[in-house]
Amino acid sequence: MLKILMAASEASPYAKTGGLADVLGSLPAALLKQGADVRVIMPKYSSIPSELKEGIHHRCYSYVRMGWRNQYCGIEEAEYRGVTYYFIDNQYYFNRDNLYGYGDDGERFAFFCQAVLAALHQLDFIPDVLHCHDWQAGMIPVLLEAKYRCQEPYHNIATMFSIHNLKYQGVYGMNHFNDWFSLGEEFFTPDKLEFYGGASFLKGGLLYSHILTTVSQSYANEIQNSFYGEQMDGLLRARQNSLHGIVNGIDYEEFNPETDPLLYCTFSKDNMDGKKENKINLQRDLQLPVDGELPMIGLISRLVDQKGLDLIAHVLGDILRYPVQLVVLGSGSEKYERLFQDAVNQYPGKVSANIRFDNTLAHRIYAGADLFLMPSLFEPCGLGQMISMRYGTLPIVRETGGLLDTVNAYNEYTGEGNGFRFHNYNAHEMLFTIERALHLYQNKEVWSKLQYAAMSSDYSWQVSACRYMDLYQSLHHYFQ
Ligand code: ADP
Repeated sequence: MLKILMAASEASPYAKTGGLADVLGSLPAALLKQGADVRVIMPKYSSIPSELKEGIHHRCYSYVRMGWRNQYCGIEEAEYRGVTYYFIDNQYYFNRDNLYGYGDDGERFAFFCQAVLAALHQLDFIPDVLHCHDWQAGMIPVLLEAKYRCQEPYHNIATMFSIHNLKYQGVYGMNHFNDWFSLGEEFFTPDKLEFYGGASFLKGGLLYSHILTTVSQSYANEIQNSFYGEQMDGLLRARQNSLHGIVNGIDYEEFNPETDPLLYCTFSKDNMDGKKENKINLQRDLQLPVDGELPMIGLISRLVDQKGLDLIAHVLGDILRYPVQLVVLGSGSEKYERLFQDAVNQYPGKVSANIRFDNTLAHRIYAGADLFLMPSLFEPCGLGQMISMRYGTLPIVRETGGLLDTVNAYNEYTGEGNGFRFHNYNAHEMLFTIERALHLYQNKEVWSKLQYAAMSSDYSWQVSACRYMDLYQSLHHYFQ
């Protein structure tokens, strides 16, 4: 049986800030169904909900050297959907309110990377493939080569590194890297970890892993050019034969309009009555005028530049001239939080700004809204557009990365499509697309057909999990 260990900084339902957590919460279960022994290892944050903490049990402990310090490293475990999740416990590093955003994030995840490799021995689980996700796990393949490969149980481990967002790279001074990892100077040359005067966790993962993946084919192509490449495009071009694009699925159990316990009422593509009920209840709860016929645009996102929010800022007044409601859920940059908060007063009865992370409200917006706006500047995969389609909410997206790969643009001549797309990063191009969608909303017959197509589209993990399995198998010469 193929043994996979995934290392990542977040996994749903234990800890989530974005799409990475969704993937780590649902892909392992999909791979399990395909016959792999998949396990996940992540930090034990104090923010893990208490009801889930009760299911986590102490397994063993060791100490990890961090420069001159010797840090305690507890290893705990829980089971979720048949998958074993391991947790690295260290109060000093992970007993914090948030997952990220601290001055010592570099040190925290340097500890995590070392702890993962130390844990393998303790756990008596030596994987065939060690699958690392994003910069927080990027130094694991480096440390494996530098320090562990020569030890017997680590001889044959193959490595895979997945890029969920190239923008976040874990770049710190070389002096810090020296302190955390005690690697020789030979690791800090420009062809290795050195990166514009500092050193990069992400670059480590990109260079030292046998296979690279990212979360859509379009993003895999885009990041090989300088506009999307975040200064890693040269390296990615050099490794293009090892780089694969596999689009994410969504969790079909969590996001199911027919069974979702977080909705006001359930519905299906064959009985859409409940969708309007969800909108009406949402309007009531958000103190918006209650009117089931008014089109509602949802926006659920981290409020950061990546998500194309400056386009919205530019034409917000033009959008809100229409009889429409805009429901925003998210937090992030102050300028965008303020933009939407101010709009609540500026356009009375038209905007609801919910500046927080709220899973229940997210489900209710996905279900209650008619349109879902995602005009990203870049988008490795994006989950919001797929989740919204599952709930019959038609996405409006910019043609980039996973948005391009998952949304079929409505074609007024053939009637085909499951959403709306625009090409250029241009506020008026987005505005025209919104206007077109609002216009079409009046045509109930066409709209219902598009909703039906969206809800019939397959965004499950099935196909993508097979592709991961094929990639793992392609590494068999390392571990057999
Ligand atoms: P990213 O990973 O860049 O944040 P994705 O679209 O891949 O973007 O994934 C975002 C995930 O986080 C989706 O599941 C989305 O519903 C969820 N999400 C984002 N912001 C919030 C929020 N404020 N409250 C609840 N869920 C959120």
